[in-house]
Amino acid sequence: LVELNHVNKWYGDLHVLKDVSLKVRQGEVVVMLGPSGSGKSTTCRTINRLERIDEGTILIDGQPLPQEGRELQKLRQQVGMVFQSYNLFAHLSILDNVTLAPRKVLKMSKADAEKEALELLDRVGVAAQAHKYPAQLSGGQQQRVAIARALAMHPKVMLFDEPTSALDPEMVGEVLTTMTQLAQEGMTMIVVTHEMGFARHVADRIVFMADGRVLESESPEEFFTHPRTERAREFQSKIL
Ligand code: ATP
Ligand code: MG
Repeated sequence: LVELNHVNKWYGDLHVLKDVSLKVRQGEVVVMLGPSGSGKSTTCRTINRLERIDEGTILIDGQPLPQEGRELQKLRQQVGMVFQSYNLFAHLSILDNVTLAPRKVLKMSKADAEKEALELLDRVGVAAQAHKYPAQLSGGQQQRVAIARALAMHPKVMLFDEPTSALDPEMVGEVLTTMTQLAQEGMTMIVVTHEMGFARHVADRIVFMADGRVLESESPEEFFTHPRTERAREFQSKIL
């Protein structure tokens, strides 16, 4: 469903992605691990063209990611993204946060968009908060709203870049539970996280990056019990 082929990217002289190739199948949950600065966020950001690539190709559902314009907008809608900071619109209610893009971009009617938004909010466990404003919600609740907002665009794949890193520890679990549910429902997901429990138990595959390269792409069991590279062993000894 998502395919990166020999992707290279530079920031000036800094070669941040080095021949990155990655295939994510329909319904697969891929967790990206790696030390700070290894290129995990940059990889995510190239997949919906928040960042340009210098070499290589990216295909989404068999279609090359266009450079710009309408076609890019269309393809981008198919990729939902959730970041560390949830970036909800502070002056809009939770319900309006979720319905904004479906109404503006998908041209859904207010009634249809709201009906679906309430279903999504219910799915992530915050339906009772629909008429509140972001500041009235906990961090964990806001992050779940951000997930519902991304789902409202009917993405084919969801990208998560450290979705729980900014949360108080007691709220991490509820967001991971929502993500686990989504995975079980068959959503295709690419997740950058430091939550090793999620990586071990929910991921179908671990992609380990270091220094801009993909060094390993293995099942969690294989990765955690028989890391192939020294870098992965070193990473695991620090994090586990
Ligand atoms: P972390 O675990 O800390 O989030 P990461 O694996 O997500 O790290 P990236 O954010 O992808 O790493 O960064 C990869 C490299 O690119 C780093 O060396 C970083 O300093 C550099 N970098 C990232 N964004 C930019 C930018 N906008 N301009 C210049 N260099 C950048
Ligand atoms: Mg990052």
